[in-house]
Amino acid sequence: MTGRDPRYDILFEPVRIGPVTAPNRFYQVPHCTGFGYAFPNALIGHRRVKAEGGWGVVSTEMCEIHPSSDVMPYIETRIWDDSDIAHHARMTEAVHEHGALAAIELAHGGIVAQNLYSRVPPMGPASLANPEPHVPTQSKRMSGSDIADLRRWHRQAAERAVKAGFDLVYVYASHNMGIPGHFISRRYNDRTDEYGGSLENRTRLLRELIEDTKEAVGDRCGVVVRLGVEDFIGSDGITPDEARDVIAMLAELPDLWDVNVNDWPMDSSTSRFEGEGFQEPFISFVKSVTTRPVVGVGRFTSPDTMVSQIRRGIIDMIGAARPSIADPFLPKKIAEGRVEDIRECIGCNICVSGDIYHVPMRCTQNPTVGEEWRRDWHPERFAPGGSDSHVLVVGAGPSGLECALTLARRGYGVTLAEARGTLGGRVADESALPGLSAWGRVRDHRQHQLRQMANVAIYPSSRLEASDVRDFGISRVVVATGSIWRRDGIGPSNHAPVPGHDRTGVLTPDDLHAGKRPQGAVLVFDDDHFYLGGVIAELLRAEGCDVTLVTPNPMVSAFTANTLEQPRIQAHLIESGIRIETALNLAAIHGDHVLTACAYTGRQADPIACDHVVFVTSRLPEEGLWLALDGDRDSLREAGIASLDRIGDCVAPSTIAAAVHAGHTLARGFDGGEAPFRREHVVVGGPAS
Ligand code: ADP
Ligand code: SF4
Repeated sequence: MTGRDPRYDILFEPVRIGPVTAPNRFYQVPHCTGFGYAFPNALIGHRRVKAEGGWGVVSTEMCEIHPSSDVMPYIETRIWDDSDIAHHARMTEAVHEHGALAAIELAHGGIVAQNLYSRVPPMGPASLANPEPHVPTQSKRMSGSDIADLRRWHRQAAERAVKAGFDLVYVYASHNMGIPGHFISRRYNDRTDEYGGSLENRTRLLRELIEDTKEAVGDRCGVVVRLGVEDFIGSDGITPDEARDVIAMLAELPDLWDVNVNDWPMDSSTSRFEGEGFQEPFISFVKSVTTRPVVGVGRFTSPDTMVSQIRRGIIDMIGAARPSIADPFLPKKIAEGRVEDIRECIGCNICVSGDIYHVPMRCTQNPTVGEEWRRDWHPERFAPGGSDSHVLVVGAGPSGLECALTLARRGYGVTLAEARGTLGGRVADESALPGLSAWGRVRDHRQHQLRQMANVAIYPSSRLEASDVRDFGISRVVVATGSIWRRDGIGPSNHAPVPGHDRTGVLTPDDLHAGKRPQGAVLVFDDDHFYLGGVIAELLRAEGCDVTLVTPNPMVSAFTANTLEQPRIQAHLIESGIRIETALNLAAIHGDHVLTACAYTGRQADPIACDHVVFVTSRLPEEGLWLALDGDRDSLREAGIASLDRIGDCVAPSTIAAAVHAGHTLARGFDGGEAPFRREHVVVGGPAS
């Protein structure tokens, strides 16, 4: 440890926010977790670790203030009535234990709150269709008394927040998910009363909610406004000019401005589309119209970028959601002069997919997310190993790297053997593809850590057969040999090989990773539906191929709807000149064309001319090594091998996040170090049914 670099001292200055003071400039802004009201222990455990890791402010996610703000099926927090105070109080205590401030993002979802649980009609400035596609509900136009009710509910929620011990209370007007934002937006507000028409009128509700909240919290809490300053839809939505006028009108009313861009897919852009600090051009005006401190986000992981934004007067506090998820100890690592140890967010939005899928959040880089309470996993602390065994890990993809690192942290001697000359497995391959370079951080972080450790030996260019493993003389073996893409087209839409799959000219992503390149007309058949099919189409198009992307799904890269990327990917592919054929299956491959069929009816559709087909359909586990070892237990015993395990894609191909988690899980539990995870139980109460 070298101690903090003085260049970063500014990041550790306290910041006054109204009546309270944050101990430093690191501000974990509100972010969804998928824990919310359903998994409160997980939520408390997760927020506690952030405070311990040095975040000066730790916020909740969107917190529904009333049954009419019920955003189910999304799992956010609730402060509907006094019965919700107790678990919030547990969270604020956990945060305070580590000297941080606790913030609550009071929210009324307005037209996006479908109220599927409470069954109250949604409400908004006008009678509007739910902006989420495919949701057949409309809001009611709020009357004057509805607005008075809303103000009362918000005030009561703020009073409860004070009782729960929060230090900062939000008024939420961002992401098209906060009702004051709906009132400000011309596309939603066609009112002719004092809440419609001029910008001043459309801002009235936000002003009133800030004033009400200030009155409710008195000098106990700071009041924060979260405002999205750009909708990216021109004058139909909020533009930076209009946002400037809103902030100028209310400049000194809140104690802090938390500013970002709308809507959520833009605010949480993936690294495929935006780099670190990408929001700067949109929010840089804010400090010129208010003297209040300003927090902004931008997937900050570099302390130099953070210092630069502060010194240049863009923001006062470093807002972070994803970087705080990927590394809850990011501030402490900077404070301790351990910048190289930061586990940088890769901008993949697997964390977001938890919320969209209505399940607890997970993270590609940080396998301990969601496990802080459930399994007592701490991101930086590891129980010592249960024996003095040495472990051979075969395969240095995400699962092997994570397993090796966690075993080494527990004190085991680790030998890591990798067939290729470089480490990283699939992330080494995929990070070389267009837009995915940040994914290399999964490898870089682990490789860097492993190389510092005296108890680790790494052998690249070492493809091991079963006899090599037995001859190694290491008594504990973990197989992490990954997976390969199928060459036969089998996937969710085809359960038998696609006729013609064995023709020359048929390729897989592995062929492309190995440097093979098709030319001329190429058809990418994407039956995987995550990012890779689209990225490969983009790669080949950029290299001059005439590319057609065929997918049986009605949308390209359909699963990326869960990482907030789908519309952007589809637009990008169209703009790149890729021909897109959706809802189409591949029936057979011939020399210079393929036969296709409608994905719904199975009826024959038009053939497509092409010289090459790239199958991105599904993967086969590389389980040969494990099968050879496991199938000959006598030889294992004779070789003195006491345990044989397998992890990651060679068990069941999945996401990189799943592989990292699998590697971590095995290493944490090695030598029986782990109990089964704890469940959260719903407590039955109230009148007998
Ligand atoms: P995962 O996602 O499960 O970590 P990957 O496919 O990303 O899987 O990585 C698996 C790694 O294992 C690859 O780098 C591959 O080269 C390596 N590998 C596969 N078979 C062997 C083997 N027999 N010996 C050593 N390394 C191997
Ligand atoms: Fe970052 Fe991906 Fe982790 Fe989300 S899941 S915090 S985007 S690394």
